[in-house]
Amino acid sequence: MAVICERFDDLGLEDPGKEVRLGIMGGTFDPIHMGHLACAEQARVAFALDAVIFIPTGMQPFKQGKRVTDAAMRLEMVKLACATNPCFDVSPIEIEREGLTYTVDTLRQLHEHYPSNVELYFITGADAMLSIAKWHDSAAIADLAHLIAVTRPGYEMTDEAKAELDAANFDVSYLETTALSISSSMMRDWVREGKSIRYLTSLAVHDYILAKGLYKD
Ligand code: NAP
Repeated sequence: MAVICERFDDLGLEDPGKEVRLGIMGGTFDPIHMGHLACAEQARVAFALDAVIFIPTGMQPFKQGKRVTDAAMRLEMVKLACATNPCFDVSPIEIEREGLTYTVDTLRQLHEHYPSNVELYFITGADAMLSIAKWHDSAAIADLAHLIAVTRPGYEMTDEAKAELDAANFDVSYLETTALSISSSMMRDWVREGKSIRYLTSLAVHDYILAKGLYKD
């Protein structure tokens, strides 16, 4: 069976009678920043998650034609950022998959890999979650995972949007974090404008971005 990630491949096997909660942090991570890391950590505590696996997207269907940094580099940055937290790891399963990246395929692969006592909690930005009803086979997603939508000041979900998700049977919880006022697009802009992004991401990721000359044009 394919490896999901180094740290948590055997999750759930130790005690098949014990529920294990696995957070899945889906995103483009171009680049990963302290907002993502802080929100994964806050979700871990708020939802009593046993581990969080970051899964950088391969070819996100809504981003076709948009400029996105090479997947191997985004994966490497996430790996560097997760290295110091024993509850975090990164998985290459989406970037290794051929064709467009659909979350439903990822959740199915995780269900096939892990025993049935492992419950999945898919975490992503509320802005991304707003479009979930339009995602490939979205009805199946509702059966495969609990959803955690991360909101930030200025991007709260309206009651109407929440009602739509409820009506479509998604099990969505909301987590507000001020940490996400940092965004990947802001960081890319800042690098291009010659501003410092030190302390907006981990030092290892900062150094990687500078060493590889990412986001300069
Ligand atoms: P995005 O449009 O780049 O992100 C939307 C917003 O959410 C941005 O503000 C982003 O901030 C934030 N965000 C992204 N990932 C986050 C995370 N894990 N936690 C908190 N905030 C996050 O969305 P994306 O990155 O392309 O996609 C997000 C996830 O949805 C991915 O796992 C993707 O595969 C999935 N998705 C699936 C489908 C499908 O199956 N058809 C379609 C669309 C998206 P930053 O820019 O700072 O990251």
